[in-house]
Amino acid sequence: MSSARQDQRDELWASGGELDAVVVGAGFSGLYMLHRLRDRLGLSARVFEAADDVGGTWYWNRYPGARCDSESYFYSFSDRLSEDLLQEWTWTERFAPQPEILSYLQHVADRYDLRKDIQFSTRVVAAEYDDATGRWVVRTDDGRQVTARFLITAVGCLSTTNLPDFPGRDSFLGDSYHTGVWPHEGVDFTGKRVAVIGTGATGVQAIPEIAEQAAHVYVLQRTPNYDIAGGNRPMTAEDGQQIKANYRDIWQATRETAFGFPYDVANRTALSVSEQERQRIFAEAWERGGFRLGTTFNDLLLDLEANETASEFLRARIRERVRDPEIAELLSPRDHPFFTKRPPLENGYYETFNRDNVTLVNLRKSPIQEITPTGVRTTDAEYEVDSIVYATGFDAMTGTLFKLGIRGRNGLGLREKWADGPRTYLGIATHGFPNLFMITGPQSPSVLSNMPVSIEQHVDWITDCLRHLRETGRDTIEPLPSAEDDWVDHHNEVTQMTLLPMADSWWVGANIPGKPRNLYPYVGGVGTYRQICDEVAARDYDGFGRGSGGTASDGQFTGTARAKFTDIAAATTAS
Ligand code: NAP
Repeated sequence: MSSARQDQRDELWASGGELDAVVVGAGFSGLYMLHRLRDRLGLSARVFEAADDVGGTWYWNRYPGARCDSESYFYSFSDRLSEDLLQEWTWTERFAPQPEILSYLQHVADRYDLRKDIQFSTRVVAAEYDDATGRWVVRTDDGRQVTARFLITAVGCLSTTNLPDFPGRDSFLGDSYHTGVWPHEGVDFTGKRVAVIGTGATGVQAIPEIAEQAAHVYVLQRTPNYDIAGGNRPMTAEDGQQIKANYRDIWQATRETAFGFPYDVANRTALSVSEQERQRIFAEAWERGGFRLGTTFNDLLLDLEANETASEFLRARIRERVRDPEIAELLSPRDHPFFTKRPPLENGYYETFNRDNVTLVNLRKSPIQEITPTGVRTTDAEYEVDSIVYATGFDAMTGTLFKLGIRGRNGLGLREKWADGPRTYLGIATHGFPNLFMITGPQSPSVLSNMPVSIEQHVDWITDCLRHLRETGRDTIEPLPSAEDDWVDHHNEVTQMTLLPMADSWWVGANIPGKPRNLYPYVGGVGTYRQICDEVAARDYDGFGRGSGGTASDGQFTGTARAKFTDIAAATTAS
C-alpha cells in the first residue's frame, strides 16, 4: 500500500472511525453522492472502493470495443453538478469509448477533490446495523471497521460477473478472460484462435474488434438479440457547440422522459399507422441510430402484435447485411419479442459474420458440454482455441448488494429478506434496514434508463432526505412495511402490463441459476418515477417512518406513490 494511502487510513482511524455516512463504490453514483454528502451537506463521509481508482463499471469493463450505448452528451453528470463542467468537457465520439468515460470520471474526482475521501483497494465484507446505537458497523477486507449513521450503496447494477460453471472450466490451458474484469494492459489476439461465449451487449461490442485481430473467432451464441445500429461517429465541432448551447433543455428532457433520454416515446401505436408509414418511421429511427427505434411507438412493450412489427423490421436488417441466409437466420431472434431483453447497439457486428475468420456456433442446437484443456466441446464438435472470452454477463442488481454482507435490525440479512426477490420501497430503501439507501436499487428504473440520469435523481433525493432529517431534528428513516408491500405490488402490476416477463433475460434474473424470477428494474418510466419520489417527499415522506437514535416510529402511509402513478397514467391517457 502506498504511504499516502496508509496515511489516509491512519487519519480515519485516529478519528475513531466514526462517520456520518459510508458510501460503497466510486463510480458515477459514489462520486456524486460523496460530493453531495461532503460539499453540500457538510457531513463526514467515506467511500470504500474495491478497485484502485474511480470509475466503477468503466474501470472494470476494458474489453475491446467497450463503449457507452447512450449518446455521450447525455451520459454524464448534468447541470445539477456543474454547468461549467458541461462546457469544459468535450466528447470526441457520439458513443464514448470506455477510456474516455473513465478519464471523464477521473477528471470529476480530481476537479472536486474527491479522492481524499475515497479509500481504494478496499472491499466491504460486512455492514451490520447495531440496534443499540442506531449506527451501521462497516467492516472491510483489511480487517478494520468504521461506524456510520447512514449506509449508502453505490455499487452499480452490473458489478458482479457471471462466470458459468462449465465442467472442466479450470482445466483450460490457454488464456481465459471475463469481459467484466478485463486486464488493464489489454490483450493482443493477433494470430490467436479465440472462442467468445455470449452475444449480449458486451459480446456484440467485443466480437468485431477481436475478429479484426484474431486468426479465427468462434462466436458461441445461445440466444440471438435484436441488435440496433449504433451509428457511432466522431463528434464534430458543430455537434459540440450545438449540444453545449442546449444543455439546459437537454437535461430537462432527460428527467421527464420514459428512459432518461432527451427524446421520448412517440404518442402513437404501431398498428394505427399504415405498413408503409410504419416502415418509414422505423427506417428513420434506424438511420439516426441508438435506442430511438425503441421509442417509435408507445405500444411496442405492451402489445405482441405491435412488437412483432419492430422485431421483423430488425430481422430484415440482419438479412440485408449477412450474406449467408442460414447464418442470417441463426442471428435472428425468434424466441422473444424486441426489447424484452436489452437490445445491444452494434457497429459492424453483423458484417463480422461475412468474414472468413469468423464462425457462428449455435449453442441452442449443440450446447457446451465442457471446457477442455485445449478448447470448448459442444455436443457435436470440439473447437480448439488459444483463448476463451467469457462475455457471459453479470449477477445483476442484487449480486453485489448481497456480497456486502448487509444485516439490518435484529441481525436480519438482506439476502434472507430478499430470498424470494427484492422487497423495497421506491427501490431505494427496504424495511428492517434503517438508514440504508440503495442508489439505483432493484425496483427503481436503474437499468431501464440512461443510468447517470437515474443516479442523479436518487442521489439528489437522498441528499434532500438527509437535509430534511437534519432540519426536523431526526436522524433515522426506514420504510413502513405497508408502503413497501404497496410498492412491490405496484411494481409487479406495472411489470405485468408489459411484455418484459416473456423473455429469459438478466432483467428478470433468468441468467443466474436459482435466482428468483422477478423483473428487477422498475418499468413505470423515469419521468413518472421521479414525480412519484418527489410527491412522497413533498407529502412528508409518505410511507417512511422517521425518528431519532435508531427509532423510526413517526410516520404514516397514505398511498402517495401508487396514487401519483394512477394520476399520471390517467393524464397520459386523456392527452
Ligand atoms: P448479457 O446480456 O447477460 O449477455 C450474456 C451472454 O452470455 C448472453 O448471450 C447469454 O446467452 C450468454 N450466456 C450466459 N451464460 C451462458 C451459458 N451458460 N452458456 C452459453 N451462453 C451463456 O451480458 P452482457 O452482454 O455483459 O450485458 C449485460 C448488460 O450490460 C447489458 O444488457 C447492458 O445493460 C450492459 N452493457 C452496457 C453497455 C453499454 O452501454 N456500453 C455495454 C455492454 C453491456 P443467453 O442470452 O442465452 O442467456
